[in-house]
Amino acid sequence: MQLNETVIRNVVEEVLSRLGSNGAGVPVVAGGGYQGRFGMFTCVDEAVAAARDAFDQLSRRTMDDRKRIIDHIRRISIDQCVELGTMEMEETKIGRLEHKIEKLKVLGERTPGVEFMRSEVFSGDHGLAVIEHAPFGVIGAITPVTHSLPTITGNAVSMIAAGNTLVINPHPSGRRVAAEGVRRFNEAIYRDLGIDNLICLITEPTLETADAIFKHRDVALLCVTGGPGVARAAMRQAKRAIVAGPGNPPVVVDETADLDRAARSIIQGAAYDNNLLCISEKQVFVVDRVFDAMMAAMERAGAVRLSASEVEAFTKVAITSVGEGGRKHDVPSRDFLGKDAAVLAAGIGKTISPNVELIYGETDESNPFVPVEQMMPFLPFVRSRDVDEAIEMAYRSEHGFRHTAMIHSKNVDNMTKMGKVMDTTLFVKNGPSMAGLGLGGEGYLSFSIATPTGEGPTTPLTFTRERRCSMIDNLRILGK
Ligand code: NAD
Repeated sequence: MQLNETVIRNVVEEVLSRLGSNGAGVPVVAGGGYQGRFGMFTCVDEAVAAARDAFDQLSRRTMDDRKRIIDHIRRISIDQCVELGTMEMEETKIGRLEHKIEKLKVLGERTPGVEFMRSEVFSGDHGLAVIEHAPFGVIGAITPVTHSLPTITGNAVSMIAAGNTLVINPHPSGRRVAAEGVRRFNEAIYRDLGIDNLICLITEPTLETADAIFKHRDVALLCVTGGPGVARAAMRQAKRAIVAGPGNPPVVVDETADLDRAARSIIQGAAYDNNLLCISEKQVFVVDRVFDAMMAAMERAGAVRLSASEVEAFTKVAITSVGEGGRKHDVPSRDFLGKDAAVLAAGIGKTISPNVELIYGETDESNPFVPVEQMMPFLPFVRSRDVDEAIEMAYRSEHGFRHTAMIHSKNVDNMTKMGKVMDTTLFVKNGPSMAGLGLGGEGYLSFSIATPTGEGPTTPLTFTRERRCSMIDNLRILGK
């Protein structure tokens, strides 16, 4: 996609300045009520009340209306992806512009909507039982900085398709683009259908506002997308939480793999948005017999290899420790998280082309890049004796998150063994990680993949409760 940077910058500055310091910048209708707020709130109680009111209105509308509502969210995400994606890049300063734009477009196009809704029926001697999927009501959603507005697009489409409304606590570092997107969604929906505040957003989000959403009695369900801290916090709550938690996806390459295809796939997955995706390849275990050939294949596919001393120097600057005593642990340095490969290389005084998508190097299993979810385009490659050792190391590196794993192999026994051991929500064979979300593979798309709580890639049905309607001894038109 061709972008005129000056035009985009001007548009972004204009929109960000309109948002103002409180992130609202929208009229409040006099005389109370929340109509005209277009989802912008600083107070959790008000946001929940507005979302509750919107839920009552939505409950009286048809499925066709739900589809029309969702079509506005899709249209804005697709048609305005350049402007909103650029705004997200300018605000968060992590990832890659072309992918910020593409994520909005793809989520607008492919998030499952009302077409995913269905009912089940049991028909027998005693009549019919129909199982229908009803909304919960107001859903409290927490969204990550790695995909601020894209996660909101995906959540809003699926949650509203199921008849719910939302109150969102966005990541503070992506709050302005989140507010601008949500304001546009609500305004378009209001003008067409007369319902405002289907998606409410806390414009000045904090841990306290997140906690207030968690605990609010009118929030019926939680959906949290983020790292270990927020995943733990959500699972401690007294109400049901759908938790899309952290990952650290390993890749195994065995001696039967098509190495060039594996290299292309690993670069595509690991370099996407500078490795910010929770599903992205984070560390690679290659059997000794093809290790050197695999390193050469990576170079042929366009990645730049670091020498042993360069890997050592880069590890020192790119991984840092936080916490005290038993809670001390390694994390990626903010200077490099989500930055381009050329910025990473410059950190150790190495100049590479800005077109390079990924840098990589040989490490052993103890290098911190193996256990840490680095979220930057450097991949550690670890040599293993055989496929069994590679799978064992892959399992250890994933920490039991049960999120995502990849293998490149033509040996179905090895694939099956790894699939069983890893026990992950997504397991991709011979493709890039995103193929596991239907992007170049089969299946549907979601950016909230519920891992510890087990719902998997979320769909509208994830956000429903079952209701059964029984007709006794009648309406079955078969048999006697
Ligand atoms: P993060 O955990 O720092 O923040 C995520 C959200 O949680 C933010 O809105 C943040 O403000 C909030 N938050 C953090 N701690 C909280 C607490 N104790 N109580 C309430 N709210 C809290 O993560 P991030 O850097 O924004 O996103 C990256 C992380 O999210 C990675 O670990 C990645 O794997 C994960 N992720 C998972 C999925 C998935 O579908 N499973 C999708 C995207 C990202």
